Amino acid sequence: MSYSLHEKLKGLTPYEPVAGTFSVRLDANESYLNFPDWLRMELYEIISTFDFHRYPDVTAKTVRERYASYYGIDPDLLTAGNGSDELIMLIVSALLGKGERVMVIAPDFSMYGFYSRICENPVLVLPKGEDLTIDVDEVIRKAKEERVRAVFFSNPCNPTGQGLKREDVRRLIRSVEALVVLDEAYMDFWDQSLLSEVCDYENLIILRTCSKAFGMAALRLGFAVANPVITNALRAVKSPYNVNALTQEIAAAVLKYPDYIRACIRQILQSRDRLQEKLTELFAGKPDTRVYPTCTNFVLIKTPLSRLLFEALGKKGVAVRELNGCLRISAGSEAENEAVLTALSDCLKEGDKTI
Ligand SMILES: *Cc1c(COP(=O)(O)O)cnc(C)c1O
Repeated sequence: MSYSLHEKLKGLTPYEPVAGTFSVRLDANESYLNFPDWLRMELYEIISTFDFHRYPDVTAKTVRERYASYYGIDPDLLTAGNGSDELIMLIVSALLGKGERVMVIAPDFSMYGFYSRICENPVLVLPKGEDLTIDVDEVIRKAKEERVRAVFFSNPCNPTGQGLKREDVRRLIRSVEALVVLDEAYMDFWDQSLLSEVCDYENLIILRTCSKAFGMAALRLGFAVANPVITNALRAVKSPYNVNALTQEIAAAVLKYPDYIRACIRQILQSRDRLQEKLTELFAGKPDTRVYPTCTNFVLIKTPLSRLLFEALGKKGVAVRELNGCLRISAGSEAENEAVLTALSDCLKEGDKTI
């Protein structure tokens, strides 16, 4: 007997976030705000009486209700996932047929294409133009021409930071004969969500996450929001105990404080604005360089020095993301922003031997 892995797994390696030890981490678009003490006290209470010996609620009812209430939507339209990441894999593996084609618009969140390839669904990659926005007419045309069965994209987009206006997203959904997976992971930082009208479409799934604006990346909690037909299907195919009970209870407790969450988002946006402004000043006049506008909690900079700066920052203990000739920097605390700006400014100074 001999066994060897399937062809499609050749060359795949386990996901590694930016490796190494860093004093400042602005590489993963997390919230820079950790839970305050008053909130932790409540969480200790939860743990002190927690039923560790019981399986979690299959439908994650309480946390779904509180999350839906934050947005004023119907909790029955939500399916909870172990991060929205799990939901992406679930959609690709269970809602698409064998070999059906998926379209992504690059650059975008890499997991859409990644899971599609693992599930042996061919991926059609439509490139974005110089300004990194989505050309909706081109998406519609290509989706029809290539008969794709699903279109995945993030809005606002990670890693570009660009947003597509509601009216354009509506037109896209209505014009393609495919499932549209609209990943609103960063929509808490912008105002063009389609959550309230999800039932107007038979081909729409909106993904949301608690990992970014809500500051709960450690807990792994995301939601798929869709009409009852799609929601039924998602709940039928998901792993029954996909969201652990501790995550459900802790997130439900945090969601009792919507004003606290809104205040965190305002704070993150202030940090983002400052970072954006300072980076624009810092890179002003540099050749072939562009600091993009942003609808998210991070800033994208195109620079021929991206690789060198990424490495030089790493040596100074500052983690950012380098993607294809760009740096992506998440908004941090005042001290963290200061650290990355100082480090960048030092690197950019003429005569600096590190770059
Ligand atoms: C971070 C991110 C996610 C992942 O969210 P999880 O809920 O933590 O799995 C999904 N989509 C985009 C675009 C992201 O940037």
